Amino acid sequence: MSDTEKDILFNLEEVNKKIEIAAKKSGRRREDIFLLPVTKTMPTEKMQVVYDYGIKAFGENKVQEILDKYDKFPNDTKWHLIGHLQTNKVKYIIDKVTLIHSVDSEKLAEEIDKKASAAGIVMDILVEINVALEDTKFGIKLEETEEFIKRISKLKNIRIKGLMTVAPYVENPEDNRHYFRELRKLSVDIGKKNIDNVYMDILSMGMTNDYEIAIEEGSNMVRVGTGIFGKRNYNI
Ligand SMILES: *Cc1c(COP(=O)(O)O)cnc(C)c1O
Repeated sequence: MSDTEKDILFNLEEVNKKIEIAAKKSGRRREDIFLLPVTKTMPTEKMQVVYDYGIKAFGENKVQEILDKYDKFPNDTKWHLIGHLQTNKVKYIIDKVTLIHSVDSEKLAEEIDKKASAAGIVMDILVEINVALEDTKFGIKLEETEEFIKRISKLKNIRIKGLMTVAPYVENPEDNRHYFRELRKLSVDIGKKNIDNVYMDILSMGMTNDYEIAIEEGSNMVRVGTGIFGKRNYNI
């Protein structure tokens, strides 16, 4: 086994342990939390280690990267689009991804609906929320989320499965705890409204730096890149 392989397996075990501890703190079990390995910029050899370990799901933030890697994995692989999605690129991935985490406009929701309809499928989506109102981030404002969801819930070929956020980058992950708590509360509130076609059973929040806190506050899907693969090199 190569050192790289050993490192990835070691990291996966560590992340799993930490997920389990955080899950217990919030009265849940390890199995209640979905670990999504984030594989952007990672070569397929490294991704293969994760796949062989048994996690057959990858989070990518670019359409082109999904297209480049798609054929290199068996068709039981689940591809999640976690980055910003341009309307004109929906057509390339509509039949390839399992979950789109980053729906942040009505125009995008409508385009996904249209292309899903043409492909004869219903696409699962999450609504991306800009919890800290950062200019650099995409997403709907917390207070506009319910209205937004009500509007897009009328689209027949998308299924609204929950909410997603990319919290601010902070030195101390405790600083993000209140954002996670707010998003979880919003998810519960919207869930209680029993809006047709709205499920609110996925809460995609927490990355390498803050996934334990996110889980303690109710996340059930964490997106972990660096914590599994080590630092990304954007120059290759
Ligand atoms: C890159 C990325 C991640 C993973 O970030 P890490 O800090 O490496 O864990 C999670 N979510 C999104 C949307 C990303 O773009």
